[in-house]
Amino acid sequence: MDISSEEKVGEILQEGKTKIIRRGPDDDTVIIESKNDITAGDGAKHDIIEGKGAWATTTTCNVFMLLEECGIENAFIQRLNDTDFLAEKCIMIPYEIVVRRELHGSALKREPFQEKGHYLPQLRVEFFLKTANRQWEGNKFPVEDPLVIFNDAQDMADLYLPDQPIHAQDPFFATSQYPLQNDEILTKDGSFYYLYNCRNVISNQARKVFLVLEKQWQLLGRKLVDFKLEFGVNSDNKIVLADVVDADSWRLLKDGCHQDKQAYRDGGELSEVAEKYRQTAELSERFGLPEQQLIIWKASQEDKGCGFYKNDLADFGIEYRSVAISPHKEPVRAYVTIQKVIQEVPDSVLIVYCDRNSAGPTLSAQVTVPTVTVPTSWRDFPDDVWSSLRTPSETPCATILEPNNAFLHAMQILAIRNPKIYMELRFRQEQRLLNY
Ligand code: 5GP
Repeated sequence: MDISSEEKVGEILQEGKTKIIRRGPDDDTVIIESKNDITAGDGAKHDIIEGKGAWATTTTCNVFMLLEECGIENAFIQRLNDTDFLAEKCIMIPYEIVVRRELHGSALKREPFQEKGHYLPQLRVEFFLKTANRQWEGNKFPVEDPLVIFNDAQDMADLYLPDQPIHAQDPFFATSQYPLQNDEILTKDGSFYYLYNCRNVISNQARKVFLVLEKQWQLLGRKLVDFKLEFGVNSDNKIVLADVVDADSWRLLKDGCHQDKQAYRDGGELSEVAEKYRQTAELSERFGLPEQQLIIWKASQEDKGCGFYKNDLADFGIEYRSVAISPHKEPVRAYVTIQKVIQEVPDSVLIVYCDRNSAGPTLSAQVTVPTVTVPTSWRDFPDDVWSSLRTPSETPCATILEPNNAFLHAMQILAIRNPKIYMELRFRQEQRLLNY
């Protein structure tokens, strides 16, 4: 989209501590500018860091583009210049959503008996009500951004002080006083979103965003331990990630040291804080999905289907290549084909489906990519399995009987380098994991 310089300085709709939201070139867009300001303690501490606005914009645009590549919808449209990007205009949902992999910050104040950095196998999602000047809908609160605890049994939600143990306090604001679940967002077509009802959608999206960024940062030698997101409703009435996600939004560790705003909160030198923001922006330029492939090999066109569905492949967003050649009957053609297919996309996993004697071990001896064989005849002829299990030396083939487990095994291997596949696998797993 071509935007004139006049439009780039459109009317200010809202100005916060670290960003300015301007009217966009049409009714459905806004321009988001990141400022050079850095603040902590609800504005009690304030400084200017030259270049911060541009680094924040680089980081946030790269986050949004990665999420888009991973199929997670968000409000980002395009970057306009160093400090500005164009976004869909959304009706903002008044929650700050915090997702945690480890306990730090306010979580430790609520659970002082836990160790700093306590690991959570299942991501924890917390909702904080967004307030301005400790007010919300005409109600005055003792703190900014109180913690929201949903009471499912009674379809209610209560507000708590976020910096004190929950078990040691009563809610200072109960939904019997004001029905939070009836708080609604009027969308463009006149329908309503009830905040209480949309929290599962928000919660699941927030987890997915975390998982994508968790893996992406792992690949760049960093550990993401928590972050804060905000969602909005766009002009298609979809709930999408809508606020900036930058080095102010998360806690990101490298060898135990903070690469984020915590360094500023803890009184670090401004030049050191600036260097962390610069590095984060520079690293974010390397965000993106690798080119990978799943090779599905059958020894004969007659071999049974692989047993998993095309939509599994679509969910994981993985390219696949299907080959049917018998390494016994056409060894040269099989050899040449597997070499070429891997040369085209070196980051591959090979799954071999075949009856009777095992083509998988034979292929595994000729390639450097992980090979999994699925001896499809095992139910009728259990002895067939032995030719896949007792293999000669230098024949590193894994044998898995259930086709779907073979597929998931291949996804686990690809997930090591792929934030989207990692997100898909881990999201499913975490539905059944528990925290302790
Ligand atoms: P905590 O609740 O532990 O203080 O913060 C959890 C996470 O959310 C941290 O990564 C923190 O940086 C982020 N966070 C909390 N409140 C805000 C906020 O008002 N603005 C931004 N940008 N991030 C926040």
